[in-house]
Amino acid sequence: MLSIHHFVITAIVAIITLFYSVFFYHFLKDQQQKTDLIMESIRHDTSETAYIISTEMQGIESIRSFKSLLNRKVASSPLITNMVVSLGNKILIKTDAAITTIPPGKRTLSTLNNIPTSKLLEQRVFESDIDFFMQDKPAKLRLFTYVDHKYISNYFSQNQMNYLLFFGLFPMLGLGLLWLILRNYITTPLESLRLFAYSQEKRPKPFKLKELEYVRSSMEETFQRLEHEKKELYRLARTDSLSGLANRSQLNERLSWLISEASRENSEFAIVFIDLDNFKVVNDSLGHDIGDELLKNVADLIHHVLREYDIIARVGGDEFVIVLSHYKTNFELTHIIQRIIDRISELHIIESHPIRVSASIGVAFYPQDGTDITGLMKSADIAMYEAKKLGKNQFKFFTKALHQQVLKEIELEHSMRKAIKNNEFELFYQPKMSTDGHQVVGAEALIRWIHPQKGIIPPNDFIPAAEKNGLMVELGEWILQTVVQQQIEWKTSGLADIQLSVNLSVVQFLDDHFDDKFERIIIQSGIDPQKLDIEMTESVFLENSLKNLSSLNNIRDLGVSISLDDFGTGYSSLAYLKALPIDTLKIDKSFMDDFNNETGSIFIETIVKLAHTLKLHVVAEGIETQDQINYLVKIGCNTYQGYYCSPPLPVDQFEAFLRLTDYGCGEDRE
Ligand code: C2E
Ligand code: MG
Ligand code: MG
Repeated sequence: MLSIHHFVITAIVAIITLFYSVFFYHFLKDQQQKTDLIMESIRHDTSETAYIISTEMQGIESIRSFKSLLNRKVASSPLITNMVVSLGNKILIKTDAAITTIPPGKRTLSTLNNIPTSKLLEQRVFESDIDFFMQDKPAKLRLFTYVDHKYISNYFSQNQMNYLLFFGLFPMLGLGLLWLILRNYITTPLESLRLFAYSQEKRPKPFKLKELEYVRSSMEETFQRLEHEKKELYRLARTDSLSGLANRSQLNERLSWLISEASRENSEFAIVFIDLDNFKVVNDSLGHDIGDELLKNVADLIHHVLREYDIIARVGGDEFVIVLSHYKTNFELTHIIQRIIDRISELHIIESHPIRVSASIGVAFYPQDGTDITGLMKSADIAMYEAKKLGKNQFKFFTKALHQQVLKEIELEHSMRKAIKNNEFELFYQPKMSTDGHQVVGAEALIRWIHPQKGIIPPNDFIPAAEKNGLMVELGEWILQTVVQQQIEWKTSGLADIQLSVNLSVVQFLDDHFDDKFERIIIQSGIDPQKLDIEMTESVFLENSLKNLSSLNNIRDLGVSISLDDFGTGYSSLAYLKALPIDTLKIDKSFMDDFNNETGSIFIETIVKLAHTLKLHVVAEGIETQDQINYLVKIGCNTYQGYYCSPPLPVDQFEAFLRLTDYGCGEDRE
């Protein structure tokens, strides 16, 4: 496409070409007209002289009388300088005595008609004939007319100059002027407007032409608006809308820039992963609006602890990442992180709700804990989980040992998946006994991994990993299914119709389909729900407590009883006991170990009294001695579980245990 600039140049060149073609045509025509006029004048003088001589001459001897005629002609015409009359080559009369011979033939021109300008300019002498009768015979004299060559040349060059000036130079100047005007008023401003449209760097000056100025100002306005909208969109795409902090994509962008800079300068920086503890509790109990406000609050205070050049981003619901690169010592770094922890754990008042949260923080360093974004984030994440595991509200650095642990977890997950496929998991059963008559009142299913090489692996070695890597849901479903079938099998075989307890992990409750699956298993199996008991720990109420509470109510509504396992080791809050649909408290083994010292017994007795007041059953766990049994009888706790009677047993051994009629434990055993 043609630019205005090129268009104007092309137009000007076309105009110049056309103009000069016309100009040259007229110029040449004018030259010829002038030549014709000059020739007309010369022809007139020459033919008049020839005519007078031929008509008035009496004889060749009278020719001299015409010299004055020649002189007059020469004097009266500015074009003619000399005239010579000759007979053959012999000069008869002449106007200049200096002329001694007639001009040679090649210097003369005998025709005076249709002479082109160029010929006239090079011709100096014209020749014509004078007819007369000599002794009654026609004869010819030759009349040479010398023209003033200089005068004619001057005349033409003067004419050419005028032409060039008026028709050559002035129009050129005019076109030049036109070009300048077009350039200054149209092409240059339009070009600057075009550049502005692309880069918005230099604002174009106002146009001097009204209509163009309207176009310019409206375009400038539009471009500025578009640019503003573009920047805003860019900002939004890189900003977390809730907190106003950078989002994950901005974090990645800035991190990769920082990584390349740090690798060039051989410097280090810290990536700090912050996760709020129990944020879900706030969300579930006070609603998402309050949760959002809390996140904004936390974002604000982290922002205030940091300096302008530190990167801070929100990368998930309650997850923040900060990148610190300007710290002199690790002491300074830990000071900053501790301040963040302290500030977060201060009381937040949101819409008049006093809220306390804490944060678990993991720290990883570039380059030793990772040289790319994924590696660094993973290391910081691992360290954060370690902080959570160690009791939350603290920070942990990523270490080699942590790394090893992660590798072990990956390996464990891999072999667990294989174990599920190969049916390597097995349920063992531990009886729950009555303290008085040592009757089997139930049994707890406890999972074991029968590893082909390592032998029996206890649950504490793989349940936490299964909870972390997501296998717990699948495994939990298998356990529940197996226990339910086992209960029905023992019942139908007539061996025992006892209540079986299943341990449920909090992770199972977090599964969206948990309620449906549980109900389906109970209904489809046809088990008497009262013969099923689920054991869960207090951690069930920490995360997503509302949903979990509704799941527990569903379980209860189905007729399945609920035991609170390891009671006393967690928060043991009275509020839980009041709010939750619990049937049984299981006193943790650690308390039972201390039964014979004052503090231990106070706890146990308090729990038992509490349970009786709330009309709950109590099961004492980890009973290993007769003394413990005696103590339990004394304080009115009538169910126990423990090695004293039996460890968890594989199905065939447990069946054998059940078959032993009048079976008893301890003193009654003999
Ligand atoms: P838990 O539910 O509190 O189970 C009681 C644990 O104490 C069992 O350990 C049991 O073998 C052990 N125990 C029972 N009596 C005695 C005793 O007299 N002395 C001693 N020293 N220990 C005794 P186990 O089987 O290793 O299970 C550990 C934990 O693993 C369980 O604690 C439970 O939280 C979890 N777990 C076991 N099986 C399952 C399961 O099928 N599902 C889930 N989610 N968790 C399970
Ligand atoms: Mg248990
Ligand atoms: Mg327990």
